[in-house]
Amino acid sequence: MSLLSVIVPCYNEEESVALFYQELTKNDPFFKEKEIELELLYIDDGSKDGTVREVKKLIEQDSRVHIVSFSRNFGKEAAMFAGLEKSKGDYVVMMDVDLQDPPSLLPEMFEWIWQGYDSVATRRVTRKGEPPIRSFFARRFYHLMKKISQTEMMDGARDYRLMTRQMVDAILSMREYNRFTKGIFGWVGFKTKWLEYENVERAKGETKWNFWKLLVYSLDGITAFSTA
Ligand code: UDP
Ligand code: MG
Repeated sequence: MSLLSVIVPCYNEEESVALFYQELTKNDPFFKEKEIELELLYIDDGSKDGTVREVKKLIEQDSRVHIVSFSRNFGKEAAMFAGLEKSKGDYVVMMDVDLQDPPSLLPEMFEWIWQGYDSVATRRVTRKGEPPIRSFFARRFYHLMKKISQTEMMDGARDYRLMTRQMVDAILSMREYNRFTKGIFGWVGFKTKWLEYENVERAKGETKWNFWKLLVYSLDGITAFSTA
């Protein structure tokens, strides 16, 4: 038996919590066949809606579900870090709750891990459905990072990534305050397989990012991963 920790940051996602659970557990036959146990960690990033209530409902019906709840909104980076710290799995995967990171990719991701990769990362090859202005700035950001940073950062890279415990421990050893996980993932090295998929639109609710938050976030990326 091996343990898989699924880390899911949630900020005001009451509509998505149960939907995500339904989609993820469609993999249960696969997990069973491959003798993978599941630990599902919802990280509530200071939600003001019924997110915690929805997670607690799931906890009552399935002992594999757990919650970490923040006192206020700290941002997705902090939520991901808390999830990594809490996770006990031999494998750890990071996923958005809005189903933009399709849980159906997990079996394929595991195949690559079993072939000897330390991590399987994902990137979107299209930004279909995204506001054009956001795509424009995102592309500029990755273009700039390619020029000024030594760390590999793929355009369209998601935080959706399956990792071995060894890699997770390396990430946890980096105790930066202004975290930019997309950079840290690349910086720690390890053998990474990239999977590509078409953009999937958010199942329910709205994006938690606005232009300002994304700008500040991209500055974290630039200051942390370049000498510029
Ligand atoms: N999220 C979070 N804290 C925040 C903002 C977002 O935990 O302050 C979570 C959110 O609930 C979702 C994931 O991070 O599971 C990605 O957020 P979102 O879908 O809004 O981002 P986008 O897909 O538009 O980049
Ligand atoms: Mg999203």
